[in-house]
Amino acid sequence: MIPLCRSSDMEGSNEDTEEDKRVWCRRMKPAMWYLMMLIVGFFYVYLTAIQYIRGQQALQDPPSTYLKQYDPQYFDESLISPANALTFEYHNYTTMTDFLRAMSATYPNLTALYSIGKSVQGRDLWVMVVSSSPYQHIIGQPNVKYVANMHGNEAVGREMLLHLIEYLAKNYQTDDYVHWLLDNTRIHIMPSMNPDGFEVAREGTCQGGQGRYNARGFDLNRNFPDYFKQNNKKSQPEAEAVKQWISKIQFVLSANLHGGALVASYPFDNSPNTIFQQFTSTPSLTPDEDAFKHLASIYSFNHGTMHLGLPCKPGAPAFTNGTTNGAAWYPLTGGMQDYNYVWHGCMDTTIEMSCCKYPMAKQLPKFWQDNQEALVRYMGEVHRGVRGFVVDTEMRPVEGASIKVKSRDVGFQTTKYGEYWRILLPGHYSLEVYANGYDPAVEDFLVVDTNPTLLNITLYRASPEPDALPSGPNNHHTPPHSPPPSAAVPTSNPNASAIAITLFFTLTVHLVKFYRLFKYFSDRVSHHRRPVFIGGPAQSQGRPVPVHRPEFRAFSPPSRTKSPAFLIFSAEFSIASCPSIPEP
Ligand SMILES: [Zn+2]
Repeated sequence: MIPLCRSSDMEGSNEDTEEDKRVWCRRMKPAMWYLMMLIVGFFYVYLTAIQYIRGQQALQDPPSTYLKQYDPQYFDESLISPANALTFEYHNYTTMTDFLRAMSATYPNLTALYSIGKSVQGRDLWVMVVSSSPYQHIIGQPNVKYVANMHGNEAVGREMLLHLIEYLAKNYQTDDYVHWLLDNTRIHIMPSMNPDGFEVAREGTCQGGQGRYNARGFDLNRNFPDYFKQNNKKSQPEAEAVKQWISKIQFVLSANLHGGALVASYPFDNSPNTIFQQFTSTPSLTPDEDAFKHLASIYSFNHGTMHLGLPCKPGAPAFTNGTTNGAAWYPLTGGMQDYNYVWHGCMDTTIEMSCCKYPMAKQLPKFWQDNQEALVRYMGEVHRGVRGFVVDTEMRPVEGASIKVKSRDVGFQTTKYGEYWRILLPGHYSLEVYANGYDPAVEDFLVVDTNPTLLNITLYRASPEPDALPSGPNNHHTPPHSPPPSAAVPTSNPNASAIAITLFFTLTVHLVKFYRLFKYFSDRVSHHRRPVFIGGPAQSQGRPVPVHRPEFRAFSPPSRTKSPAFLIFSAEFSIASCPSIPEP
């Protein structure tokens, strides 16, 4: 260990007596604080980095299926009464979890609770399936989803989804539309994608960012692969869990619920990287513009006020019919909406449902009144367009066949049962199907307003003569504007332990280097007779440091009333103001 103070460090101190050295050492004591803080800081940086790397590694082994949670001890009779049992107040993680468990225990024939993973701080990312067959996928039945609270301080959507779960379960027997919806649709509801953020957000806060981000400070709606631009943000556990989730379940329609505005916004959220578009908000339209505009309008016109398109406050934007293209409002990179659509063919919209991000709970009944019909009707739109199965000549399902509607170059894929669905407005269309080892197939079809068109496609084994293939099967298997499925595979770090060890040694070397270079000494006293300390880099041990040079900043030693933080600040200030000291 290098002694922290040495009289030989002082100019002209070679003649110091033992008593002088003792006095110097006593005066140098405050510098020990600095060193201790440096060591604490070192371990903090190290442990944070390790947690970060480990967090990435933990994502490597997602469950192949999601375990449904059912525990009859949570049965709650009060949830059966027709009167609304769920109170209009905000539910934190604990009370939300209790409610979800109680629902799944009380309505086991209509609901099933599962977790798709955990947040940074270990909270479950709960999803409630609501369906007449909650524990089993019925082949051919489309999946829809709602995700709320991905910005932890945007709290209205979270409560709306809890009320939606209760509403659907309680009205299954009495409401014909709800009955039809639950009999024909598998509804997945995630009330909170950012439970950590919600816990630190504050009720009554309409603007601002407290609670918006996850526990590592990442904006989850900027954390997905982007179609237009490279997204270098470190993938977070919450976004990673959602990516796994939507790669396992073929969702056809979804919405993510936000706050801070009143509008239904649809893809694209980002736009091509042109100089013009970087500085302006111009529309960035998908080939499914008509369908997206329709979906957004279904929400806004079934909402109490959204379709009026009134600005939230003077000077805020007003949206015609309460809908907008995402990029036309403002472009963003790494959003969940574009990812759903481009990577997985899921028609996702962003519902901004409250001008105030986290309004007081007493306003929740009004929000529920405004959104209830919109939330229910929007899901019904999944039963519009075309659907069917892709099979081979022996009627076996063809999994992973790439499908696109002609002239709509964003494709999607069949499930392991060969199922596919696509939301389309009434009209004439052509479906193109490509699969490895099969000849491409093209089928014309008609979509009407009243019911979905059922269209099954049979694929024939590719002809043996290469000349018979149009231009090589591989050129067709991925629709031209759809990223390959491998692009959606999360990056994970298999070398976490090696990185952890390397990081530890690297940081240790830097700590030692820094310690050897940094010296404290005192050669004067203030007019209150207190020693004045000076910190600065020294090129070598045991050699005099030129304290008289003007680059050095002197600071008063902390008295007993001053905190170590003052000392650290002062010491760092000295370093910053003295970049290099020549050897005398
Ligand atoms: Zn948001």
